[in-house]
Amino acid sequence: MKTIHLVIDDKPIVAPEGTNIFQAAIDNGIYIPGLCYHPKLSQFGGCRLCMVEVTERRTGHRFACAHPVSEGMTVKVNTPKVIRYRKAVMEYLLAHHPLDCPTCDKAGECGLQDITHDLNLFPGRFKTVRMHAPMIRDNPILELNRNRCILCGRCVSTCKEIEGVGAIDFQNRGIKTVIGTAFDRPLNCSFCGGCTAVCPTGAWQDRTLGFAGRSWEFSKVPTICPYCSVGCTVVLNTKTESVRRVTSDDYTGINEGNLCVKGRFGHEFIHAPERIKTPFIRRNGALSPASWDEAIEHTAKRFQQIISESGGTAIGGIGSEKCANEDNYLFQKFCRTALKTNNIDNMANIKSPALNGLIYESVVQGVATVSLKELERANTLFFIGVDITEAHPVAGSMARKAIRMNNAHLIIANERAVQFNSPAKNDIRLRYALGSQIVLIHALIKIILSEKLVDLKRVESSSNNFSKFRSSLDEFSVEEASKITGVSLKTIRNAAVLLAKPGNCCIVCGKDIEESPLAEDAIRALMNLCALINPAYSGEADAGRASLLFSRAHNNSQGVNDMGVAPGIFPGYADVHDTANREKIEGAWGVKFPDDMFRKTTENVIDLAFNNKLKALYIMGDNPIATYPNGRKIREACKKVDFLVVQDTFMTETAQLAEVVLPSVTFAEKEGTFTNMGMTVQRLNRAIKPVGEAKPDWQIIGSLSQKMGQSRSYASPKEILTEIEGVSPVYAGINYERLRRKEFHWASSVYNKNKTAKYTFTIGKPKSPVVRKNKDYPFVLLTGASLNHQGTFSRHSKSLMAVAPECFAEINTKDAQALQINNNDPVVIESPQNKVTLKAKVSGKSPEKTVFISEEHEWVFSNLLRDAEHTLVKICKETV
Ligand code: SF4
Repeated sequence: MKTIHLVIDDKPIVAPEGTNIFQAAIDNGIYIPGLCYHPKLSQFGGCRLCMVEVTERRTGHRFACAHPVSEGMTVKVNTPKVIRYRKAVMEYLLAHHPLDCPTCDKAGECGLQDITHDLNLFPGRFKTVRMHAPMIRDNPILELNRNRCILCGRCVSTCKEIEGVGAIDFQNRGIKTVIGTAFDRPLNCSFCGGCTAVCPTGAWQDRTLGFAGRSWEFSKVPTICPYCSVGCTVVLNTKTESVRRVTSDDYTGINEGNLCVKGRFGHEFIHAPERIKTPFIRRNGALSPASWDEAIEHTAKRFQQIISESGGTAIGGIGSEKCANEDNYLFQKFCRTALKTNNIDNMANIKSPALNGLIYESVVQGVATVSLKELERANTLFFIGVDITEAHPVAGSMARKAIRMNNAHLIIANERAVQFNSPAKNDIRLRYALGSQIVLIHALIKIILSEKLVDLKRVESSSNNFSKFRSSLDEFSVEEASKITGVSLKTIRNAAVLLAKPGNCCIVCGKDIEESPLAEDAIRALMNLCALINPAYSGEADAGRASLLFSRAHNNSQGVNDMGVAPGIFPGYADVHDTANREKIEGAWGVKFPDDMFRKTTENVIDLAFNNKLKALYIMGDNPIATYPNGRKIREACKKVDFLVVQDTFMTETAQLAEVVLPSVTFAEKEGTFTNMGMTVQRLNRAIKPVGEAKPDWQIIGSLSQKMGQSRSYASPKEILTEIEGVSPVYAGINYERLRRKEFHWASSVYNKNKTAKYTFTIGKPKSPVVRKNKDYPFVLLTGASLNHQGTFSRHSKSLMAVAPECFAEINTKDAQALQINNNDPVVIESPQNKVTLKAKVSGKSPEKTVFISEEHEWVFSNLLRDAEHTLVKICKETV
């Protein structure tokens, strides 16, 4: 990119061509006052405060945010004339502003207040005219005080450009201009709170703060969001050991200050009254509070008793997609060394058992090597089987940035008409028939091959078996594929053409693919597609790269698997059945594994408990009663074991069945690391002391371990991560201290060690959809993510419950008409297993003969309905 040389306030500066003066100044530590310019938003030029003196061919005055840098330009930021002008602008603004700083939550971090002080302004020359507009409080978490608004337009741009919602805009004209919703209807948006974050005054406010402190009273601790796997940095604002609000920082983390409703407002669970603050032991049938010594002693004794009577393999362990890497590492180490069992697992692996191996293979084969941040640099975005708006909202914002900045093409393939608002010029939606994803991916591949949309010679030279792969698709008919998928041939072709274009292509593979019965075939097909279109194989330095990103449900669904909390792998995806791997781990941990510990079995840990093969279950940081796909089986499994230990922050439905409950801390009270869906490891920072007697998971495991005679103890997560680095090949090179400054991306680190490897195509006949039918249960149950909720934490966050108190059953308009169901009617969804009653939401989003229910409203137990991926149900209107 061409660079421009200029001078601002006597400082020589080099800036990329096209940069405006304001940005060039910020990038070089020079302050120019301004209230409407924001680096992540498009230019608006509304506040008129950033006037500077510019000398190009001649000297004049320009608005810094709206004027591009030019070669040889000289800029003066604070000449007497400029300051006089700025003061006049401020006098106008303040003539309308209520000057209610003592009662405004923004005081202390208000742009208007700062500039007033900087310019040393006194009461102005203009007659004060106040607006006296009523406060708008039409929703539980955001409020708009139009009296304080300076019409900078930042909130409008954020809502439209970053969130893709456009819920607010300028209304009226001239002196009557205000910010508001269309026809002054109540705010109906995603409640990301981006408006409060960018508002330079106190016009938009976070109602959840509730006057709980002034900005200068808060300590601000950046850490990682505990909800989805994007891994946004949140800034916890604390006062007297309590988290009062969450803000964001545009310059810290991968999210540029963007957050979704859960990240920004879903923090109240940290201090929820339902938190468990002491250990519990079941006595005479009821759980009663106990001391830590009693609980640890009791648990260790019961484990030892079971080991001596039935062997360690009679114990099972379930790790956590929400706990830190260090917690999970110690958990699997404790199970494998102290309990002498390899019957361990986590919900992500249970739901998608093939995924771990496929992700690792994708990394090594060079088709999953980029971090999530690369979404912003993409030239083509392909979301398949993922509802990015609901599942990973900030990843959606990153994608919108790519569309805005790079003109990225967008392709969304989904069974449902998922919503993703974007300004993409090329925006293709492939709404494929239920279960036909593999056929669709092969149709894309076949078109690219048959129309030679990529350089096939290049593909041949960068892979091992291209000719064989190509000829394996000779019989495949794209016309037939179009019929099976229900997507027109023209649309599939258009998508194939976009995918084959050179440049960076990010393919995000979602839960619908990962958790489908044919997950392995579908993911292998995506890997093939990615290898076929990957321009990086051309050998040109700037050719771009096509890469897969795998959607993971929770903040550390990736990390729990990286740590080896799964029966087939040690930390770093080393196969437990490989003797060399086993010996390496034995050496590192100073143990000798019993011979029968690593027996291969097709039963997961819940199956083992359900089939009476386990005597004890140790569950850390999960509520499988709500999260395990088969609700009936998990309930029975938990009841069948003699000894159930649950370590969690809340008395979940699973904890209520336990003999011992161990209280653990939340993300705000601990240190450690999470690994996001882009395989980037980020560091957590402790913001407050543990609530009650709760302890970090690694400490609890440490106490249990010592009680059971293990000699190794750990003083901190840092020490644990150092051990992980030595044991896990994928975390080699990680450094706890360095993580404070820079995150660690293990996929690129592993790939760089295997860079010369050629891709090997998976060859197989594309499988067609198999959707069971039953005339008594004519609907297919689909489940998925929710923007507003995610498990136990959101359930205990009052603001999220206020925004989204209900879980709806989403029914297709035609089906609703046939069943005479209207919006909000209570409907009974019944499967052969069970039934639930929910309110109906009628739309065209889900296909006919399907019903969609969020699986993240923890209190709904949609898993009670399920038996397989395509659970069949019937729907009827509830009769009173
Ligand atoms: Fe948290 Fe995910 Fe929302 Fe980011 S997108 S704030 S990680 S829930």
